[in-house]
Amino acid sequence: MAEESIFTKIINGDIPSDILYEDEDCICIKDIAPQAPVHVLLIPRKPIPRLADATAEDQALLGRLMLRSGDIARQLGIDEAFRLVVNNGAGAGQTVFHLHLHLLAGKEFTEAGL
Ligand code: IMP
Repeated sequence: MAEESIFTKIINGDIPSDILYEDEDCICIKDIAPQAPVHVLLIPRKPIPRLADATAEDQALLGRLMLRSGDIARQLGIDEAFRLVVNNGAGAGQTVFHLHLHLLAGKEFTEAGL
């Protein structure tokens, strides 16, 4: 069995974390090394390693994550300007192999990268 990711440990409460939002599908936490004044992670409870590993079975979950990201942006007051990022694979900068969406805001974004 694959080793549990740090996000699974956070979801299971094995590692303490400041959870900003949670529901049956996902949790939202502050990124430990923020790349913008607002930088939170939306993490599905289901440990899909990479976006490319999601299947048709995950279609509804992925849709709900997108909708939740908008809800969370509204809650955080950043819904007028935020960036949503998913890194897929080490070559794209992914370091935690448990799917997560980065929500970033509070700075000027001029390029496609973080
Ligand atoms: P990735 O590089 O797209 O995989 O993003 C992983 C993110 O998780 C990085 O921005 C890290 O700073 C963040 N991160 C890693 N460990 C923790 C943690 O324990 N709490 C919160 N964020 C974390």
